[in-house]
Amino acid sequence: SPTAAPNKEIVQLRDGPYDSFNAIVSTLPPSPATENVGSRSPLAGWTAAVKANFCVKDAPTSCSSAMLESYESTFDAAAVTSLRQAGADLRYVTNCDEFGMGSNNVHSVHGAVRNPASPAQSSKNIGRDWDVETERSAGGSSGGSAAAVRAGLVRFALGSDTGGSIRLPAAYCGVVGLKPSYGLVSRWGLVSYADSLDTVGVLTRTVEDAEQVHSVLAKHDARDPTSASQESRSAAAQLVNDVIAALPTADSQRPLEGIRVGVPKEYFPVELHPRVLPAFRRTVDALTELGAEVVSIQLPSTPSALSAYYIISSAEASSNLARYDGVEYGLHVPPVPGHHAYAATRTAGFGDEVRKRILLGTFALTADAFDNFFLQASRVRADIQRDFATALRIPSPSNVLGQTPQEVQSNAAGVDVILHPSAVDTAPTLASALNKERDAGVAEYVQDILTVPASLAGLPALALPAGVADDGWPVGATLVSQWGCDRLILHVAKQLQ
Ligand code: GLN
Repeated sequence: SPTAAPNKEIVQLRDGPYDSFNAIVSTLPPSPATENVGSRSPLAGWTAAVKANFCVKDAPTSCSSAMLESYESTFDAAAVTSLRQAGADLRYVTNCDEFGMGSNNVHSVHGAVRNPASPAQSSKNIGRDWDVETERSAGGSSGGSAAAVRAGLVRFALGSDTGGSIRLPAAYCGVVGLKPSYGLVSRWGLVSYADSLDTVGVLTRTVEDAEQVHSVLAKHDARDPTSASQESRSAAAQLVNDVIAALPTADSQRPLEGIRVGVPKEYFPVELHPRVLPAFRRTVDALTELGAEVVSIQLPSTPSALSAYYIISSAEASSNLARYDGVEYGLHVPPVPGHHAYAATRTAGFGDEVRKRILLGTFALTADAFDNFFLQASRVRADIQRDFATALRIPSPSNVLGQTPQEVQSNAAGVDVILHPSAVDTAPTLASALNKERDAGVAEYVQDILTVPASLAGLPALALPAGVADDGWPVGATLVSQWGCDRLILHVAKQLQ
């Protein structure tokens, strides 16, 4: 291959330029004065950080890639505008896996992120090279956002979640991570990874904060063609209101009396480490004490979700990343005679993991492979959606539109929310996250088995801290519900805090 600029996939294992976890990759200039922002604005004075794959005007939007390392956006992403208008104090850009592809935040031109949730109060390695055998991954791809919140650098951070990128770092760092229903928050200005799965969400310390930021972000935006209509939003809000209105009053001893919680048996695969179970069981017990009825349910297509996710997301990524040709924007490396015009730029600009996805995705879309890969994965996706539809009591708002309340088919035997461990284990050590030989990289993907189903179905999912395992590192529990019922999982989670 052409030898051009060096591939910048260096793994930096030292403190970053702004913080000792390497969570922050740049600082932001103060927000331009925005009219109508006052001390009563919903996020007035809330310090915030933004993942490096959101466009922020006149600030670097590197996507943690050498391809965009010197790229500065000329406009704010829709989510960034919403935050500014609500009075948020945007301070930093956070590290992430390159273009959002990864589970450990080690695939970054800015280097790896170190998990601040270390049980050894303060790390002995601050200011020196990290000990990769004891230091742990912050999770990915929104690892910098989770680490920044956990370390107290900001009150909240914007993240993106395509297959678990908010929930996994939230679980590993012991913070709250909300992946909203697909289409509720505008993706305009979020650099695309896989459009049919990408969502914009938030990482916070408390559920109340997540709810407040989410309510600022969730609104229709005509610039995002997949932004949910006002009608579906209202239909979902009505369904949630009905469920919450039927609950006992807030001062009740059993505020979740009437809520049915399903624990899917497929979410305890052989890969699940038993050390996450005690904390998870405590969450189940807490829900029962709060009056919820916890039952076992089945989501039979779950075991196929991971393969389907990696085929669909890589196929979409291969198409999305075709735009980085060295001509329009980003890195440009002069072509090497005898090689394809774009090869030098793309070889120098993309790291190994991104290249792997482009190759896998391009293959899955070729005429010979299409039926066995992309089409098959799309079928699995429909099965996953059907599983959730069968399990949930609340009907999908899209089925409710245009029907009278009497016509709406509600699955009376279903559950209101689904509860599962957020991840199969506590955070991996950086040594293991960086080990490229381990299962030829597939071990990294296995960390996503519990998060990808909700992504494939477009459902809201909230990862919240559930305590620590016997290794001293955080464990998360995740709540999932029907499309548009983000407020319901937030409501249940608030009782658990
Ligand atoms: N780890 C998954 C992947 O690499 C999810 C990433 C994400 O949600 N952006 O695709």
